[in-house]
Amino acid sequence: MLGLMQNRPLLISEQIEFAARNHGDEEIVSRSVEGPIHRYTYRDCASRSRQMANALTKLGVKLGDRIGTLAWNGYRHMELYFGVSGMGAVCHTINPRLFPEQIVYIINHAEDEYIFIDLTFLPLVEAIKDSITNVKGFVIMTDKEHMPETSLPNVLCYEELMASADDQFAWPEFDENTASSLCYTSGTTGNPKGVLYSHRSTVLHSFGIRSPDGVGFSSQEVILPVVPMFHANAWGIVYAAAMAGSKLVMPGAQMDGKSIYELMEAEGVTLSAGVPTVWMMLLAFMNESNSKFTTMQRTVIGGSAVPKSMIESFRNNYNVDVIHAWGMTEMSPLGTACNLKRKHAGLPNEEKNDLNLKQGVAVFGVEMKIVDDTGKELPWDGEKFGRLLVRGPWVTSGYFKSDQSVVDSDGWFDTGDVSTIDKDGYMQIVDRSKDVIKSGGEWISSIDVENEVVGCPGIAEAAVIAVPHPKWDERPLVIAVKQEGSNVSKEDVIEHLKRSLAKWQLPDDVVFVPELPHTATGKLLKNKLREEYKDYTLSSS
Ligand code: ADP
Repeated sequence: MLGLMQNRPLLISEQIEFAARNHGDEEIVSRSVEGPIHRYTYRDCASRSRQMANALTKLGVKLGDRIGTLAWNGYRHMELYFGVSGMGAVCHTINPRLFPEQIVYIINHAEDEYIFIDLTFLPLVEAIKDSITNVKGFVIMTDKEHMPETSLPNVLCYEELMASADDQFAWPEFDENTASSLCYTSGTTGNPKGVLYSHRSTVLHSFGIRSPDGVGFSSQEVILPVVPMFHANAWGIVYAAAMAGSKLVMPGAQMDGKSIYELMEAEGVTLSAGVPTVWMMLLAFMNESNSKFTTMQRTVIGGSAVPKSMIESFRNNYNVDVIHAWGMTEMSPLGTACNLKRKHAGLPNEEKNDLNLKQGVAVFGVEMKIVDDTGKELPWDGEKFGRLLVRGPWVTSGYFKSDQSVVDSDGWFDTGDVSTIDKDGYMQIVDRSKDVIKSGGEWISSIDVENEVVGCPGIAEAAVIAVPHPKWDERPLVIAVKQEGSNVSKEDVIEHLKRSLAKWQLPDDVVFVPELPHTATGKLLKNKLREEYKDYTLSSS
């Protein structure tokens, strides 16, 4: 027997209309690319999103067409999030930090009809214009006064396009499984892969983020997403903030510590979100300038593991709680958030900080399990580690234009991460599965070893990779960059590691190089190193 509740579709257009109806006066403040601070309300944002939908309709954009964006976090980008998806087209956020050839690949692969461009990214698009000739037109996200000279063909001005369109638009109702937005993963191997979100996945994910043990959004909150809208939809913050009626503060192109700090203080920001590098810059600025927060309460940190010193600095020096979060583009992206439970309330700060090193507990909607190499499920004891599998309504089932499923017969998606899960459900990432070193039946976390190597005086950066070994299958090799002027030796590094690593975890060799290869988003390119060192003979072989 089916239930008798209304089968209303979960649509992104309703998120912005909800905000306009119920939190219409709440502000969206943006540092514009042109310079000044721009302020308006959710009511204005909804009205201009409808105008955008009308303008796109006039341009001939139809249900399912892809519309590219190359833009910072700001109000116009928000209007595209709601306007493009709301009318049934697909908002394809392009990551400008990818290599130009990757950007060409994804624009062509996505078959973008139009591309909306912030002034900053105009030179980037001009440089590749001859390789993306299928794009019908380019919309520069500025007003008439600031329109630049450009060599691009078929150029339109955002504000002129807006001015030509009415703000009355009846959002269409369609199946909630309709595609809403598209994000390509940077991919350390092969071409970038497109993750195609739906209205349903986006709205459900927003509920997950909003929930108190997710990140917890409400109309009391002032949120500044430092995480860019071109990377995994700014972790879904824009959609969830509209559903909560939170004030939004958009940093535009200025992400340095001073600019972020000033904006936080000026706008009364209570909650922020970004990757560890951003917080490193902010904390460095605050330390140097002896600044304090007056309104900040919490910050979400994810994308890579949060160093303990950062959690301590936020909590002990600035009274800001860190919510360590884990996820990936393929998961919309939120998977887990590290919030403390009731039983942890009385813990001393030191123990709370230790707990926050874990990536956290699954948000309702995400199921997790860890398995060994044979696929056998491992216990949640906080010790055994294995491949982390997930499933849920905001986890991908396949990539755009690929007919290969990426889930097993029970719907589990392999995240490519290796982790432990403890009895309270807290997951901790140990390594990427392709980076873990399998030595004589035991697994060694390359990340753990790297962290220790980087702590050795004289080392600037290090990668630890597996190299083949006749007896143990694989053994760890350190490839390190010395700090300028340092004469640190292999022996110094090994001596340093002996203090914290077991004998069988100690690397067999240390190689010094002038620099290490990175992906466009700054992650170590370990597959390149593995290729380069595949025939390396360890002194212990
Ligand atoms: P890309 O960097 O290729 O764009 P994502 O941003 O989707 O891809 O990265 C997802 C990966 O980043 C995860 O699978 C995981 O390895 C890593 N990651 C994300 N959050 C964390 C975290 N809090 N701690 C450690 N690793 C993380």
